[in-house]
Amino acid sequence: MEPPLQQQPPPPSPRAATILGKYQLIRLLGRGSFAKVYQARSLVDGATVAVKIIDKSKTVNAGMEPRIIREIDAMRRLHHHPNILKIHEVMATKTKIHLIVEYAAGGELFARISRRGRLSESTARRYFQQLVSALRFCHRNGVAHRDLKPQNLLLDGDGNLKVSDFGLSALPEQLKNGLLHTACGTPAYTAPEILRRSGGYDGSKADAWSCGLILFVFVAGYFPFDDTNIPAMCKKISRRDYQFPEWISKPVRFVIHKLLDPNPETRMSLESLFGNAWFKKSLNPETAEGNTFGWDSAFHGKCGCYEGMSGSSGVSAFDIISMSSGLDLTRLFETTLDGGCRREKRFSSSARVEAVEEKVKEVGGVLGFKVEVGKSNGAIALVKGKVTLVFELFQIVPDELLLVALKVVEGALEFEEHHWGYWKDGLEDVVLSWHNQES
Ligand code: AMP
Repeated sequence: MEPPLQQQPPPPSPRAATILGKYQLIRLLGRGSFAKVYQARSLVDGATVAVKIIDKSKTVNAGMEPRIIREIDAMRRLHHHPNILKIHEVMATKTKIHLIVEYAAGGELFARISRRGRLSESTARRYFQQLVSALRFCHRNGVAHRDLKPQNLLLDGDGNLKVSDFGLSALPEQLKNGLLHTACGTPAYTAPEILRRSGGYDGSKADAWSCGLILFVFVAGYFPFDDTNIPAMCKKISRRDYQFPEWISKPVRFVIHKLLDPNPETRMSLESLFGNAWFKKSLNPETAEGNTFGWDSAFHGKCGCYEGMSGSSGVSAFDIISMSSGLDLTRLFETTLDGGCRREKRFSSSARVEAVEEKVKEVGGVLGFKVEVGKSNGAIALVKGKVTLVFELFQIVPDELLLVALKVVEGALEFEEHHWGYWKDGLEDVVLSWHNQES
């Protein structure tokens, strides 16, 4: 067992920045494309937390707001498992979103591997058990991660694994693939069926493949499909073309081989790992048990089919419409926006995605708006002078029901309220029902 990891932060200087009067920032932990992550201290109870600060203007420009909504939704629903990073609070200002999450004092697991080299088989097994337990919990609750990669595996102060960033867990394929290639520079941690982009796939099976790859890196200390040429690497992945170093034991080879099966139909499932002798050894009862149905009851059922694992819908479009007020995840961001009423309209639609997008562009064009963001980003920005409207589209039941939001994100003062009337008339053909009619 490795010694516990404790990085005691220096006390913050008296001039350290405070956000929203509640958290004092201590130091920058890392940065992603849209967010900076800080270690911070709560001024209320002194607890150490991590604060992810997301610049709304950047996310809106890049059509990322739906991604953030999904990340928060997935994290909130899954926060009862000990190996999933907890989300404590979400706060929004006009320009920024602050996610207050559990602080992982041990940092990135893979940074440790690159510093100290490969893990012993027993240490690798312990982290692997925690990873698989966390994912099984997600899958049982209808969410697949689908973006497992080194940066997403953090360690807490006691050396326990924490899976973070469900940001891509529910993204449309186009955006997901785009992000994987640009953000990571390599599709290496992605299951072959996702790389093939051949229609739908089972997210839990894709996660099982990524787990096989992660286990290989744990015990080998290097990546199995390394190739500077991406098409060549993809070929290796789809042929299961890798070499085990001689120190890897037979039972570990067996598990990796079964998980890295390019065919999702015959690939070993994470559930079945709990019956595997190597995996079960020294399995902590809490990890074995996981937490089967832990999420907030308020979310349970309502979002179970929300772009989760393919083929797991089980709720009809009409069920969704009847409870659609409960699906208003966007309210998370509207604490400073007049309750979001005057500046946002939402409607459900049973039309095709393309038809809704075309209609929005058409009505926007008539009202003098220019389209600034393409549909592959999952959101469309419409700009006219100082006013920016963002149009977001969520597939609640794939091919059956969409939830669409039209928001004024900039230039609220200049926005002409009577324009809502034109939008409503113009979109009539694709609207099933409006969800904030009263405003
Ligand atoms: P992200 O934008 O979530 O990928 O975060 C960027 C980097 O910040 C990560 O790769 C980690 O090194 C670090 N980080 C993110 N979240 C946390 C956290 N909760 N605790 C400690 N470090 C974190």
